[in-house]
Amino acid sequence: MSTCKIIKYATVAVLLTAFIVFSSLKIINVTRSTQAANERNGKVILIDPGHGGSDPGAVSTKGTKESVLNMQVALFLKEYLLEEGFEVIMTRGDGDVPGADTGMTNDERKHIIASAECDMVVSIHMNKFSDTSVHGAETFYYEPSEEGRQLAECIQISLKNELDSTNTRTIKGVTNLFVLKTSKAPSVLIECGYISNPTEETKLNTPSYQRRIAFSVCCGIMSYYSKRSQLQSTTG
Ligand SMILES: [Zn+2]
Repeated sequence: MSTCKIIKYATVAVLLTAFIVFSSLKIINVTRSTQAANERNGKVILIDPGHGGSDPGAVSTKGTKESVLNMQVALFLKEYLLEEGFEVIMTRGDGDVPGADTGMTNDERKHIIASAECDMVVSIHMNKFSDTSVHGAETFYYEPSEEGRQLAECIQISLKNELDSTNTRTIKGVTNLFVLKTSKAPSVLIECGYISNPTEETKLNTPSYQRRIAFSVCCGIMSYYSKRSQLQSTTG
C-alpha cells in the first residue's frame, strides 16, 4: 500500500472514530437531559407565601410588611416554575386580585399543606433582627428529612451563586416549624433576607431583586431534581 493510501485510510479511520465518539456523547447528553426533565415533569410544587391578612409577619421600622414581600417573591417563583414545566399550588394568593394580601389561620395553612398532593413544599419568608447589620438569605429544612436537607442545600448554593456571592450562611435543620413537618414531601422555608437591614430592605422591595430571588430558588429546585436523576442513573 502506498504511503498516500495509508494516510488516506488513517484519516478516514480517525474521522470515523471521532464521529462515533461525538455521537455517543451526544446520546449520553440527550439521555441525561431527558432523565432530568422526566425527574421534574409533572412534579407538583406547593408554594407557601408566609403570613398574610391580619398577620403581616415581620414589619420593618419603615413599614415594609413581610407578608406582602413573601407574596411578591412567591408569585415570581410560581412564574419561573411554570415555565420550567412544574405544576404549582399556592397556599394563598391564587386567584387573588394582584397585590392583595390575603391570609389564613395556621390550622387552615396546615390543612392545605397536609391535603395537597405535592412533591415539594417551599415556604417563602423574610427575616428581621435587632442588629440591623445582619443580612443574607438562608434556608431551613425539617431536620429528620434527608431529602429536605438536600433540597435546602441546593437552594442555599443557588442563592449564593445567583443572588449574593458574599452570602456565607449555611442551611439550618429545625424540628419546630409546622410548615416543614406537615407534608411527607421534602419541605424548605426560605428566609429571603432581612427587612431590618436598610440596604437589604430596599433591595427586597425591588421587583427585579424579588425576581432574582425567585430565579435563584427555581434554579436550586432544578438542581435538586437533576442531582436526583443523576443519582438514579448511577444506582440503576
Ligand atoms: Zn415569616
